[in-house]
Amino acid sequence: MTDPNDTPFAADAYFLGPKSENGSWVRGEFQAILDHWYDWRRSIFADDPEAISEERRLSPTFLREREVLGQELRNLLVMLRSEVPKFTPRYIGHMVSELSLPALLGHFATLLHNPNNTSREVAKVGARMESEAIAMLAKMVGYDSAIAQGHFTSGGTFANFEAVWRARYRLDHALSLALVLAERDGDELDPFMAAHMGWRKFEQLRDDREVEESALRAASMVLGNPFEIAKRIGKCSGRDYLGPVLITPGNKHFSWQKAANLFGIGEDSFWNTPLDAQGRVDMTALAGRVDDARLAGRPVLCLTSVAGTTEAGEIDPVDKIADMLDALKQDNIHIWHHVDAAYGGFFCTMLGGKAEQVLAKQQQDALRAIARAQSVTIDPHKLGYVPYSCGAFVCRDEHAYRASSFQAPYIDRADTKDKWRCTLEGSRSGAGAAATWLTGKTLGFGPDKFGKIIAAGIQSRKIFQADMVKANPLVRPLDPSDTNIVCFSLAKPDEPLSVSNERTLAVYSKFQAHPDFSVSKTVLDAHSYGALIEAHVGTYGGECDVGQLALLRLVFMNPFWANPDTRDSLTPEFIGLLEDFTA
Ligand SMILES: *Cc1c(COP(=O)(O)O)cnc(C)c1O
Repeated sequence: MTDPNDTPFAADAYFLGPKSENGSWVRGEFQAILDHWYDWRRSIFADDPEAISEERRLSPTFLREREVLGQELRNLLVMLRSEVPKFTPRYIGHMVSELSLPALLGHFATLLHNPNNTSREVAKVGARMESEAIAMLAKMVGYDSAIAQGHFTSGGTFANFEAVWRARYRLDHALSLALVLAERDGDELDPFMAAHMGWRKFEQLRDDREVEESALRAASMVLGNPFEIAKRIGKCSGRDYLGPVLITPGNKHFSWQKAANLFGIGEDSFWNTPLDAQGRVDMTALAGRVDDARLAGRPVLCLTSVAGTTEAGEIDPVDKIADMLDALKQDNIHIWHHVDAAYGGFFCTMLGGKAEQVLAKQQQDALRAIARAQSVTIDPHKLGYVPYSCGAFVCRDEHAYRASSFQAPYIDRADTKDKWRCTLEGSRSGAGAAATWLTGKTLGFGPDKFGKIIAAGIQSRKIFQADMVKANPLVRPLDPSDTNIVCFSLAKPDEPLSVSNERTLAVYSKFQAHPDFSVSKTVLDAHSYGALIEAHVGTYGGECDVGQLALLRLVFMNPFWANPDTRDSLTPEFIGLLEDFTA
């Protein structure tokens, strides 16, 4: 029997359930949405004539076309029966699972109205909902929601680009001003120091020294020819200007490499930082990166940390990074800190409640420190249980949110202005924002309900991992596992890594060919993960004969793993399969 106290109460009412257990009343909610939609059309401009008369609706052509549509729709539904069943607790593959009901209903209802949040002219309600939903996410990560700004994106990739875009404008403004002062007034020019002056100093200096906008424009790499401006910077500073660097941890998502490509800074300027034996960014190495940039006279465009890595769900020491950057501020060095919390942002829902106790203190502190960063990426379409595509980019304040050329350096409060000027994307669906909004209004983004569901996922991962280790001596979990993802290799004592890698990948292929469970794999490279790989292999006396570690990866997002009935039925089945596959 299920002990109702073991299941976070919210999960039961907020998901359809793997057997459509909530199907009958949810059908009523979908019906209510359709009724509203039909009625809305009828009630507005009620005196307008019908456009499709009953006579036309009964004509043979009409009936034939209707038949075609019905048939093809049914074909589509047949095809969709082969879609990956991500709703079931048996799906523990990637960072996606069952959608929540508020997200689904909010999305569907809004989809029918089709707001384009790029402008209030095409999204009166959609745009308002977006501002409110952004405020909810801002509050979730600890920003002051009254001054935080942001918008929804197609996903984490674009949210990360938004951060780099803004960091580049800030850098360009600062460098342009410094170049004007060097060329016009003979000031000394140190590109590293100048680039990190920050917005407040920029404004003060620009006003005190009476620098005209036209002068700034003539010294801007964004507006002018960057190669020519670099030459001028080189001339004033006494050495060649080699451009900015982007500092990311070795556990970063692939989107950062795309950002380096997209913004044209060159892959060589994309400075990856090694990780410690726990797979989190190594603080000594990180400080070294900043020093290297300073010595090379190359500004740091943006420094990124990751809360919830794509591979293993690990959380970088965001608090220690914030401390390091605060210390640099004492020397007037303001470096843009962006937290890529595409996956882990929703872990913040646990903070402030009992739920947070499933995390180690170190991870709680790291999550609390997201509030100290300039900007953050959050993907509601991952741990937010919201349909694709829905990412979010949130800034601490309007200074950080600025994205502009010199013409309009000030972006007014977002909720009074259209967004198109300050988003990389153009047209943007309002459905994801509404899905997030309705989730916030019901489940909330705090520890009472949402946080309990997230905590239950982490708890489920812990229980599953312990059961698996007890049952199969080959299972070698990556240690530590910070959150709701377990990665493990399959190795015998003293075995070379090449041999266990082969076994792990062979078992992965067998899972892929077997329909009962969806799992994923990841391969860590010694280039970034050297210390972690060595520590991992060391736990069973293995030998690092190759530079890669292959791991099976299980993501515990499905809320029903917290139900003992589900757990007790699926865990032995998985363990049995694993046994077969490793025999
Ligand atoms: C998933 C992920 C991204 C990219 O997000 P998309 O929504 O897939 O574009 C970026 N960073 C991290 C840490 C992620 O986990």
